[in-house]
Amino acid sequence: MRLQERIWIAASGDSGFGLSHPVDCTVYLIDGGREAALIDAGCGLGTEELEENIEKTGHSLSDIKKIFLTHGHGDHAGGAWKLSQDCGAQVLALEETACYVTAGDRKALSIDAAVAAGVYEEGYPFHACPVTPLRDGQVIQVGDLEIKAVRTDGHCIGHCCYQTTIDQKTVLFSGDSVYYGGKISLQPIWDCDLAAYVKTCLRLAKIRPDVFLPAHGAISLGRGYLHTDKAAQAIRALGIPKNM
Ligand SMILES: [Zn+2]
Repeated sequence: MRLQERIWIAASGDSGFGLSHPVDCTVYLIDGGREAALIDAGCGLGTEELEENIEKTGHSLSDIKKIFLTHGHGDHAGGAWKLSQDCGAQVLALEETACYVTAGDRKALSIDAAVAAGVYEEGYPFHACPVTPLRDGQVIQVGDLEIKAVRTDGHCIGHCCYQTTIDQKTVLFSGDSVYYGGKISLQPIWDCDLAAYVKTCLRLAKIRPDVFLPAHGAISLGRGYLHTDKAAQAIRALGIPKNM
């Protein structure tokens, strides 16, 4: 599904657009000209469909040179290993996420907690995948696009949003930090941190995105700052933004 000249949705489950496996987060494909990249990798249970969707965009799998993970939860990182093998792509994430996904650490990634909660079926496989660590603020080139890593802990540790500029518009891939309508995702898992989430919401509001692309739910192709502003406003009023 094409969103604009250089951005497509390659996968999206029941919390989004129903284009791939029900549990998949929304996976974005960005076209940098000489090469392309994905933001997140889906849950890994429907990678073939995701790959078919990539080919339907007119890109071949070998065009995908990088896969940026927003964080390591199963619905975002479960597909990283197979996709990176099939595309020959490098997988990148912030340091903690890189460490846990490389080790396939189900506990640290709250995979076992999500299975117990019924998010994934019993026996859900999470394949360890080598991940290159990124630093906050690091800029990675995807063809002629510059993709900047924005540390946004809160939903979990090592969560990263990705920011870029396309046609003078600020594009923010917000992962599971802030969603449409300024909602957030607080969960009773070991590394979910309200104080960090507060900082994240205020930081994202400063970016003032035009195009706002979260990993679940609705998206905004203009005036994306309305959503980051809404989360920040709730915090400035000493409240907590609505939970997804
Ligand atoms: Zn998550």
